[in-house]
Amino acid sequence: MLILNSSLLEQIKTQSEKGYPFEICGFMVGKVDYQSSNIREVFEVVQVENQNRERANDRFEISPKDYMRVEQLADSKGLQIVGVYHSHPDHPDRPSQTDLEYAVEDISYIILSVKGGKVESFRSWYLVEGEFQEEEVKIV
Ligand SMILES: [Zn+2]
Repeated sequence: MLILNSSLLEQIKTQSEKGYPFEICGFMVGKVDYQSSNIREVFEVVQVENQNRERANDRFEISPKDYMRVEQLADSKGLQIVGVYHSHPDHPDRPSQTDLEYAVEDISYIILSVKGGKVESFRSWYLVEGEFQEEEVKIV
């Protein structure tokens, strides 16, 4: 389960709409509840540049430099990267084959579907034995 407060959700929705018709992406920084390891709570969202310029409408790519920068930022606050979010302009909020290929375990993947410049829906996904499963998002 992913716990996200409504103002952070608003931030990623706004970023997704501003970025339309291109995919935007970013990191969710927060904490994992180790008592029940499958609960990740988000405290901060950090948008990073989509490095894929050729197919920015349906691909996203995060540079290792941005990854390191956000990891250091999280670390300096005693937090960690708990997820990645990205938008799907004019596509459903389901992971694509490419999303699956690049996904790693133990973090949440929020996908926002943006239709005609407006966020229509979003879902969070989590990798279980190499397959994406939808996970619950609790908005607080
Ligand atoms: Zn995607």
